[in-house]
Amino acid sequence: MARLTPDIWQHHAEGTRNGWVSEDEDGDRQTRPFQGSCIFQNRPGFAGGMGCSLHILALKEGREPLETKPDVCWQLPVRRTYEWIDRPDDTRVLQVSIGEYDRRGWGSGGHDLHWWCTSATSAHGAGDPVYVSYRAELTELMGKAGYDRLSELCEARLASQLPLLAPHPADPA
Ligand code: SF4
Repeated sequence: MARLTPDIWQHHAEGTRNGWVSEDEDGDRQTRPFQGSCIFQNRPGFAGGMGCSLHILALKEGREPLETKPDVCWQLPVRRTYEWIDRPDDTRVLQVSIGEYDRRGWGSGGHDLHWWCTSATSAHGAGDPVYVSYRAELTELMGKAGYDRLSELCEARLASQLPLLAPHPADPA
């Protein structure tokens, strides 16, 4: 059976005319749309399972979805941003932040996206905190040492049973 390897993915992704990647009206790269949605999106009733076929592939093979999906897909709904900070002594530091990809991340039109869910209460009902369920993705974004420290701090915070200082506005609790 033919397999989707990183080399094949890269080769086809780069053929922007006939490949799996195309450009939108702003010139940004996106997975090629097919019948109104991404070409990898399986329709309801599809024998192989509904939803992202690359995600399904990863789960079937016991791999992390970030190993099979394009970066932009596995990173959402988390966003890594970079900002240079100018200090009073004329030095600069690069501040890298990892946080929620909220509606602002999509630009001014983001507030009107009916399908975007990070600010919906129904998206905040998982049993595990994000630092646990998103371990693989956060490790990829911040490195293992960074993730281990994050995990340590989150565990200490949970064990302290202190009230949340800044709960997410959509947190049902
Ligand atoms: S997660 Fe990405 S690759 Fe998968 S169906 Fe959605 S847009 Fe396509």
